[in-house]
Amino acid sequence: MRDYTNELLELIRLTSTNLPKQVEDRLKAALANEEPGSAAQAALETILKNVAMTRKNSTPICQDSGTPIFYIHAPAFIDRDELTRQIRTAVELATKQSYLRPNAVDALTGTNTGNNLGDDFFPTIHFQTSETDVLTIDLLLKGGGCENVGAQYSLPDDNLKAKRDLDGVRRAALDAVYQAQGEGCSPGFLGIAIGGDRGTSYLASKEVFLRDPDDKNLNADLDKLEDQITTEANQLGIGPMGFGGKSTVLGTKIKTAHRLPASFFVTISYMCWAYRRHKMIIIGAKTIYE
Ligand code: SF4
Repeated sequence: MRDYTNELLELIRLTSTNLPKQVEDRLKAALANEEPGSAAQAALETILKNVAMTRKNSTPICQDSGTPIFYIHAPAFIDRDELTRQIRTAVELATKQSYLRPNAVDALTGTNTGNNLGDDFFPTIHFQTSETDVLTIDLLLKGGGCENVGAQYSLPDDNLKAKRDLDGVRRAALDAVYQAQGEGCSPGFLGIAIGGDRGTSYLASKEVFLRDPDDKNLNADLDKLEDQITTEANQLGIGPMGFGGKSTVLGTKIKTAHRLPASFFVTISYMCWAYRRHKMIIIGAKTIYE
């Protein structure tokens, strides 16, 4: 199997330093929507200046470079153990070159490993089989602050008047945004999973961040709900960084997962404005970054 370490290092550099254009465009639209002279406007201006500067200088978008989460679609010829070794080497090199902050600390002692290599889950690597000869690797860098304000609800929830239906999902999602109060660096994006068990629901709520921010949900009811949650979250007035304003959520994506009859989980993962994700596609000798 080929050595992809250099290509992986470039994927990490790109993801850590170059905010996707669709995310930047949403931040620009949010800026245009805020009141002139407001704290919300100033916060968004600072964010956008930072985005331009880090792209130009190839430096991390945020001091917290997040948990590296890799999603791989691997053809049969890929040796998964070897690719895992190459990913870990690339993560270590990216840390040495300051594209990533050393972020992996011992759960009990807090001792930093210094190289972003922790146990089996750090970095996190998910494998799926590709039906073709094309190897694709998506990388998501998930910040700690926004991870802290993720939430899981077990419906029905009497306090929220949330039943086991789409309105219940809406109520849970809006409660999560309200509880966060802009912490985890709003404006951001909501990844929502309906169903699964507690573990798979959280996995699905993160995986949904791989969807194109501009796409439509294939389920018309969920598509409508995605827009409704974004609109209503922005009516809460929390605003960028919690300073007040019209921009709290820039987009919502929902995914379903089969569940047991006894359970109805709604899991909300929150992605801050530093929505760092890029994809690497390897077709034969060619490498494409998106
Ligand atoms: S939540 Fe996001 S923007 Fe805020 S500090 Fe963490 S990574 Fe940075």
